Amino acid sequence: QQHGSKPTSKEDLGRATWTFLHTLAAQFPEHPTRQQQRDARQLIDSLTRIYPCADCSKHFQELVRRDPPVVSSGRDFAVWMCRTHNAVNRRIGKPSFNCDLVAARWAPLDCDEHNSCDMTLGHKR
Ligand code: FAD
Repeated sequence: QQHGSKPTSKEDLGRATWTFLHTLAAQFPEHPTRQQQRDARQLIDSLTRIYPCADCSKHFQELVRRDPPVVSSGRDFAVWMCRTHNAVNRRIGKPSFNCDLVAARWAPLDCDEHNSCDMTLGHKR
């Protein structure tokens, strides 16, 4: 392949996207502003249309319709994300994840490098 990197698979894309979504949910404020709640809902809504795997986005759209994002608190959003990921796991025959462990799995950030902890949620508007 060119540039010495291999093509992105559906699995690579899935892992990267779940890392993004669970990290975001784990950093979501306990008391989100209206704007933050709107942003979270819109992000999920956009993914149901433009996630670059047609089969995945179609199924995700059905899931989100049945169980819309719960964005009232960081905890609620993280648990919703976990539940929704489990619905995808179920569909493709992967084991279910215990949502009591979602904060332990996704809240820790690697902050060893100088300045890398601005991975927490950005400025308020
Ligand atoms: P992943 O499922 O990618 O999970 C990554 C890590 O997250 C795991 O190693 C585990 O530590 C953790 N984890 C697992 N479950 C949970 C959970 N419930 N809550 C919190 N953390 C968890 N693939 C298809 O083949 N068909 C589809 O229809 C499909 N739809 C998708 C829809 C979306 C929105 C996304 C983001 C991905 C979708 N995928 C789909 C990809 C699929 O979900 C996996 O990402 C891919 O198969 C790679 O799986 P994996 O075993 O590496 O772990």
